[in-house]
Amino acid sequence: MDELEEKIERLASMISESKRIVAFTGAGVSTESNIPDFRSSKGVYESIQKEYKQPAERLLSHSYFEAHPEIFFDYLRRFLVFPDALPNDAHKSLAALERIGKLSCVVTQNIDGLHTKAGNKNVCELHGSLYRNYCIKCGEKYDLDFVLSAKDIPRCKKCGGIVRPDVVLYEELLDEDVMEKAANEIINADMLLIMGTSLAVYPAAGFIRYFRGENIVIINRDATPYDGSAKLLIKAKAGETMRAVMNKCKIEF
Ligand code: NAD
Repeated sequence: MDELEEKIERLASMISESKRIVAFTGAGVSTESNIPDFRSSKGVYESIQKEYKQPAERLLSHSYFEAHPEIFFDYLRRFLVFPDALPNDAHKSLAALERIGKLSCVVTQNIDGLHTKAGNKNVCELHGSLYRNYCIKCGEKYDLDFVLSAKDIPRCKKCGGIVRPDVVLYEELLDEDVMEKAANEIINADMLLIMGTSLAVYPAAGFIRYFRGENIVIINRDATPYDGSAKLLIKAKAGETMRAVMNKCKIEF
């Protein structure tokens, strides 16, 4: 048995013994659905920097959105929204684990809605979702299609205000209720399954410090600053790994 197979077997038995798993996910769980992550080469950071000649943090900031909404919506449509993307085996496995009562929550930094599309009911979207949009003047709600089909800047049908996605930009605060719920879920978990995140974005990455148990598992292609805290570290693709783990556990997904 090679090292990866051995780790897959260990993860399968850790899952069998767990009753309250919380998954903590990032952009890397969606790359196998053909949505680029942020920091890898050919990731969103690189594309934005190349195209707009600015650091991505600036383009994705609240002040930039206010000053240049036309550019904000241009890159949103071109680089951030993938309406045809489908959940991959990583998302589907987490949905199956929730269905059979082993997983209590997915805490995600992703804004792509794929955990919900896969069937997970209890999802804490720390950075919001591209699928929810609202008018910054009157609060009227809109769906993603409205934003995608608008020419240039989407405007509210009721008051003419700008309609923006309910996602957390740089310089903006995370939603307090979502943060509280995510923290509680992690505090009460008996296993923390971290997948596809560089654990470099704060305050989101800091949430894993709420975990009080021993079973921290990290499945990530590249190294993270928390690799030393993991009981089990799997440097491989999340979707492929989870497919093998589910097969080993004989869980249909
Ligand atoms: P990140 O880009 O900083 O890190 C992604 C990590 O995933 C990398 O360490 C990479 O090695 C790993 N990875 C890539 N493909 C993988 C795979 N198939 N299997 C396992 N690991 C894989 O992403 P982050 O940590 O989530 O932080 C970036 C921020 O950007 C987040 O706040 C998120 O909101 C946002 N973002 C979201 C999406 C999305 O919703 N899909 C996409 C890009 C960025």
